[in-house]
Amino acid sequence: MSQCVDPIVGKILAGWRYDISGIAPEMCSDYEQHFAACEHCRSRQRLHRTIDLSLIALASVSAAVFLLAFGVIRHFGPRHAFWLELAALAGFALSALIWLVVAVATPAPMTVVDAARLGARHVHDHLPPEIRDRLPEELRMKITGS
Ligand SMILES: [Zn+2]
Repeated sequence: MSQCVDPIVGKILAGWRYDISGIAPEMCSDYEQHFAACEHCRSRQRLHRTIDLSLIALASVSAAVFLLAFGVIRHFGPRHAFWLELAALAGFALSALIWLVVAVATPAPMTVVDAARLGARHVHDHLPPEIRDRLPEELRMKITGS
């Protein structure tokens, strides 16, 4: 693994879990430069964003499974159904809570928005010019960012 080119900046970034989406734009450029120059921090940033996204995905799957379990218990109505239903609902609530915490505390939603924007730009760039010109100016600005 490569070393950080500027350990002081690297340490600050590590404290933010390599998330600079929340800081002021004029401060951002310094850190963006560091990411551009530093392979170490770049790979760390990728790792953390991957963790965030997998946590969200995991919480979503877990919430869905608990909800499904609730539905199944409802449908078949076994003995002790009430307690099983309660357990399923508690599991769902916990998953939803984890999902919310991850979504609020990490830049995962921003990563998804960025990915969606990238996808939209890709589609936009491949549209025939006559259709592209018909897109509302506001929408075009949102997609291309210029
Ligand atoms: Zn670094």
